[in-house]
Amino acid sequence: MSDPYSNMKLVDENGVRLDGRTLDELRPIRIEAGVLNRADGSCYLEWGNNKVLVGVYGPREVHPKHMQNPLRGIVQARYNMASFSVSERKRPGPDRRAVEISKITSEALEAVVLVDQFPRTTVDVYIEVLEASAGTRCAGLTAASVALADAGIPMKDMVVAIASGKIGDHLALDIGRAEDNFGQADVPFGVIPRTGEIVLLQMDGHLTKEEFETVIEMNMRAAMKVYELQKAALVRRYSAFAGLAPGEESEPAAPAAAPVATGPMAAAPVAELGHPEGFKEPLAPPPVDAKVEAVLVEGEAAPEVEGEEVEEPNGDDEASSGGGY
Ligand code: ADP
Repeated sequence: MSDPYSNMKLVDENGVRLDGRTLDELRPIRIEAGVLNRADGSCYLEWGNNKVLVGVYGPREVHPKHMQNPLRGIVQARYNMASFSVSERKRPGPDRRAVEISKITSEALEAVVLVDQFPRTTVDVYIEVLEASAGTRCAGLTAASVALADAGIPMKDMVVAIASGKIGDHLALDIGRAEDNFGQADVPFGVIPRTGEIVLLQMDGHLTKEEFETVIEMNMRAAMKVYELQKAALVRRYSAFAGLAPGEESEPAAPAAAPVATGPMAAAPVAELGHPEGFKEPLAPPPVDAKVEAVLVEGEAAPEVEGEEVEEPNGDDEASSGGGY
């Protein structure tokens, strides 16, 4: 039987894609840091129709203990797609794909986290895909980097990830849902912007060597734009602290202005999530860390760092039941 989608036109004669983008255009991206009060660090990211929430805990002791490394810490990412994240209900729980994505995400993040500084510990990164529309591993890795930075984990930089590829015989930036299904190739890619080191590289489909090199260049250029959005989300998060007067911890400061895109990708419709539309209630003000607040109060010494965090009595800590997977 012939393939009913073989004639699907992913790019028209004017170089316009099914979703109206040009070939070198990103989907709209919004990033917000520090959206969860109970995690050590967190990030909410929208990338096109992808919606991803990340919570970070740690560094904390590794359980089970045989996984401890006496020389360095480990990063354990767990990627999970919610049952309602795709049009047909997804069976809950980890599958082979989630295990693979968790592994490559952990490896990419271990390249930036200064794991030598906290031996025997783990940093746990929970990536929840609330809505999936192609490129979720890249969206998850990009959001996880912001959540780690929000948690104050020592890092040499963040990771930015993006997937470009080939559709309808054209090379295209930031592959969308239909393009992922019916395109010719897809190259998920993660980079450390400060060093240019590539920490994630996969390929589904076929490209010539020249096409592959062009796709990497496209990914690299676009990654620098996404990097600006990551940094802006963190600046907004922490400028809220700086805007607080002593005793005013319940009033969040006005968010910093969204960054202006410049350079070759300036035309891309990149948006920031200052205050996500669709939230029924205003976001809670960012939690004020007592230590940060005290440092901001002129002349007042920072209090002692508190000891071990007390575990919840309900025992919902996955690590204690044998790992985060
Ligand atoms: P990525 O999301 O990183 O592009 P894949 O290429 O494996 O990873 O998946 C592409 C898209 O296919 C996903 O973003 C999602 O929209 C869809 N998808 C993946 N797994 C499932 C599933 N179990 N059920 C329905 N759709 C899925």
